[in-house]
Amino acid sequence: MLLRSEQILRMFRFTAIIFIVTLPMTTAASDDSRPPGDVRLVLQITIDGMRNDLLYRYGQRFGPGGFRYLLDSGTVFTNAHYQHANTETIVGHTTLATGAFPADHGMIGNVWYDRDSDELAYNIEDPAYPPLPSRSKRQIGEQVDPAQRLARTQGRSPASILAETLGDRLKAYYGGRSKVFAVSGKDRGAVSMAGHVGKAFWLSTDSGDFITSRYYYDAYPAWVGEWNAERRAESFGDRQWELLNELDTYLLGHQDDREYETDLRGYGRVFPHRYAAAGSPILPTQVIVSPAGDRLTLSFAKALVHAEGLGDDSIPDYLGISFSGLDAVNHFFGPSSLENEDMVLQLDRTLEDLFTFIDQTIGLEKILIAFSADHGMAEMPEYMTELGFRAGRLYPEDIIIAANHAGKVLFDIEDIVKFYYRPYLYLESAKIEAAGLDTDNVQREIAAALTGQAGVALAVARAEIQAPQTTPLLQQIQRNFHPVRSGDIYVVQSPYWFNFDKGPVAAMHGSPWRYDTHVPIIFAGADIPSRVVHRPVHPVDVAPTLSALVGNDRTRLVTRRNFARGIVSR
Ligand SMILES: [Zn+2]
Repeated sequence: MLLRSEQILRMFRFTAIIFIVTLPMTTAASDDSRPPGDVRLVLQITIDGMRNDLLYRYGQRFGPGGFRYLLDSGTVFTNAHYQHANTETIVGHTTLATGAFPADHGMIGNVWYDRDSDELAYNIEDPAYPPLPSRSKRQIGEQVDPAQRLARTQGRSPASILAETLGDRLKAYYGGRSKVFAVSGKDRGAVSMAGHVGKAFWLSTDSGDFITSRYYYDAYPAWVGEWNAERRAESFGDRQWELLNELDTYLLGHQDDREYETDLRGYGRVFPHRYAAAGSPILPTQVIVSPAGDRLTLSFAKALVHAEGLGDDSIPDYLGISFSGLDAVNHFFGPSSLENEDMVLQLDRTLEDLFTFIDQTIGLEKILIAFSADHGMAEMPEYMTELGFRAGRLYPEDIIIAANHAGKVLFDIEDIVKFYYRPYLYLESAKIEAAGLDTDNVQREIAAALTGQAGVALAVARAEIQAPQTTPLLQQIQRNFHPVRSGDIYVVQSPYWFNFDKGPVAAMHGSPWRYDTHVPIIFAGADIPSRVVHRPVHPVDVAPTLSALVGNDRTRLVTRRNFARGIVSR
């Protein structure tokens, strides 16, 4: 799927990232005063869709060993914001893993227009590497994830990721002896963190198994086969997701039943949520939309740590774990639902289980933990309206109709829109050229016509995106711009407006606004000091900071200026 022009870009980007990410490690190697082996495992935990305030809204009911372990013993950054505009899963994960902006790592959205194939492309799709079958008879589940549904094949690889990850650099630096793995409920959550030379496993919504692709393996390791043979997702059939605590202890217990929440094939809008029967095609998806999916992810990660011997020698290993459940729950029930509240409280237990396991297996003092999220979350527009805010829903057809209308009225061109997939609009360049019009001018005029439509805060044309920018919003859009993949016009929805397809997804992230950019960043374990930092920082600096800390560099996190790069540059 790589374009020839992209291959050249890719070589160029790799050089840049090698320099940035390895700089602290190579410095450390030359004046090492600390014995090797201090950090045996870098554990990068990502909670899909964990808006920062969710960590505090229910915080007084956390147990001692989950979120509280991070908040009380770690260095906690309370003011961490993504600096790119399109706050989606693959964009955030890849930024966390590489320390690059989407403009450089190329993951500009979950879906973009592939000019080579003339079709929309799913971010990590790669027909060359089909999934490695996990069962002799393949079950076909129901795919609810709208981005994945657009994928033309089931093949997956990191080939489209144009930068290297921390795990990639560890492999290269330690002569291939670092073990690098990533596990997630979502394919894109695992592939992005595993990088180019690590191994990725994700939960299949077809089978409920943890699977991989032929990019990573020709045959499953025995321990994966054994884990999958237990059919753990199936075991939830006909069981139910029940509240962890008594209803009257919940902040949001009064608003469980809201008509704008999604009932996922009989899963219901209120507690208890009943899973479909074993063998049902929707069961693996329902399991992901509950605390059970994260427990499966943890169970698989534990099996991995044991079987692959992570952290068992002085060479630092890397494990990325991305928990996908909270994002799924947010999409169907909203981030201010009883489901969200129970999900966060249950995630707290899952994390406590993880930290206890890691402490017993390797020792928390030898683990460097980086905790964050790939994006935040917007409330449902109907909920915001109930509270008195102005909000609404913007659908793809609204934008396409408005842009086509402008194309006809202003330039007498029929159907000027080639593709729209949020946030990018791609125009029919051949029609514009055939009409003898200036492409930049047409893009500008269409963008101007879209700006101010109901739910559209701003539409920005390509030429303007590429010009030097001084406002924060336009800089966010610019950091998201890749010349080959990005569209001709970037459409920014108004604050609190939903900007996605009509369908089961009832709440959506993806905007450049604060509720979507604000995420936790916490470093813990190893010799990280307990501290709360309120100054603004950025997730793009997580990977460079980890690389500085995992190297034999005595300088403490809190005195380093790793974060300066994100504040002063670009
Ligand atoms: Zn999402």
